Amino acid sequence: MLQKTHYWRREANLIGGEWVGADSGETIDVTNPATGETIGTIPKCGKAETERAIEAAAEAFESFKKTSADERAKLLRALHDAIMDNQDALAELLTLEQGKPLTESRGEVGMSAAYVLWFAEEARRIYGDLIPSPWKDRRIMVTKQPVGVIGAITPWNFPSSMLSRKIGPAIAAGCTAVVKPATQTPYSGLAWGALCEEVGIPKGVVNVVTGSARDIGAALMESSKVRKVTFTGSTEVGKVLIRQSADTVKKVSMELGGNAPFLVFDDADIDRAVAGGIAAKFRNSGQTCVCTNRFYVQSGIYDRFAEKFAEAAKALKVGSGLEEGTQQGPLIDDNAVAKVEELIGDAVDKGGKVIAGGKRHELGGTFFEPTVIADAKPEMRFSKEEIFGPVSPLFKFETEEEAVALANDTEYGLACYFYTQDLGRAFRVSEGLDYGLVGVNEGVITTEVAPFGGVKESGLGREGSKYGIDDYLEIKYVCIGGL
Ligand code: ADP
Repeated sequence: MLQKTHYWRREANLIGGEWVGADSGETIDVTNPATGETIGTIPKCGKAETERAIEAAAEAFESFKKTSADERAKLLRALHDAIMDNQDALAELLTLEQGKPLTESRGEVGMSAAYVLWFAEEARRIYGDLIPSPWKDRRIMVTKQPVGVIGAITPWNFPSSMLSRKIGPAIAAGCTAVVKPATQTPYSGLAWGALCEEVGIPKGVVNVVTGSARDIGAALMESSKVRKVTFTGSTEVGKVLIRQSADTVKKVSMELGGNAPFLVFDDADIDRAVAGGIAAKFRNSGQTCVCTNRFYVQSGIYDRFAEKFAEAAKALKVGSGLEEGTQQGPLIDDNAVAKVEELIGDAVDKGGKVIAGGKRHELGGTFFEPTVIADAKPEMRFSKEEIFGPVSPLFKFETEEEAVALANDTEYGLACYFYTQDLGRAFRVSEGLDYGLVGVNEGVITTEVAPFGGVKESGLGREGSKYGIDDYLEIKYVCIGGL
């Protein structure tokens, strides 16, 4: 079993198997969002260090691409075991830098391990084809090969599991990686480097670089050696990366923003809808790309739903993620709090009624009260903008067609949810919603065995499931003639 000291707050970057600082010696402070205290530093790397990491990954690729599927599966299984052996310590590290309740952190670390195990299994199922040939003297063979060096850029809201969906399939396919974790939550990403090293993943296969997002991002995008970039983050940055990818024609996978609608029909099981709504909205204090942004509730059930939902929101225990029983940790930083306040102010100015929370929590810092706003209207900013905080606007609707049209009236298309007991409606509505993920009578639906990803401006590609390895593979057609 690994010791905590092997990865606990690694204050260096992993490049070609060496733990190093920035060339300039500069560092960036990392803070605990629950206390505002500095918990450590990380190297402030940029272009030169990233280029070296790309070189290391390119060199490692030459031998790693020749490993057998079985060898890679074994490495991933060892990585899974190492993560699970250290689940509690990794969860504590995650809560310390990110703020989410320890139970959610344990769940996230467990999910990371689950993705790694899934891809350990998938590594052995990268099948090709023999296609019936139109020529008697030739055979048509199709094989799949790793794309090469990949760049992976991840956000602060799921600093562990977002990397597992990228490092897992990369190693399974035989790719090597340069990883850039979010600056706010770098230690969970650096821990991946330490864990990979501990379980014997060869030097240079996984490199972890922290520092200037713009410089590291640009170096990854400019390099012709990086054949694929996988990004989870905002739609705004995703668009920049897609544009930058054109010059070297890289493959891109993008998990971008969402504006998830949550529809509650008159025939819904109201208690189930309230429980699902709370889970879909307030997980990670509303800071996930699949968190509900807009609740649409049918008029016949609206008042009862609003009352019960507000009660449930008020009952959520706010506090430090490290304290037992906490359900709502702090928001990531002051900007997140300012945005939430602005959106609530805009709604109140336009006639919204705050029926739970509505202001900064008495704990101070970046803690915020779980908030519910009734009488939400389309002209309020949160009908279009991603909230990324603990605010639930409740809109009222009359008909099924109206609800589906309202739900689809956004450039986003990641997750959506709806509650109904009518089987016909369950099919009609799930087919009518323009989203990559649909929860019917369920508020939390992510699992490593199902494809995760959005349509429209929510992204490109799918992560997890049997589809999640496709983006890390190239298809090669070999024609064998002269038989
Ligand atoms: P969020 O709103 O979740 O912080 P961002 O898209 O800003 O989303 O950040 C997600 C990740 O993208 C982080 O690791 C961040 O450092 C990185 N990032 C931000 N700007 C750029 C950029 N111009 N190029 C590459 N990566 C970037």
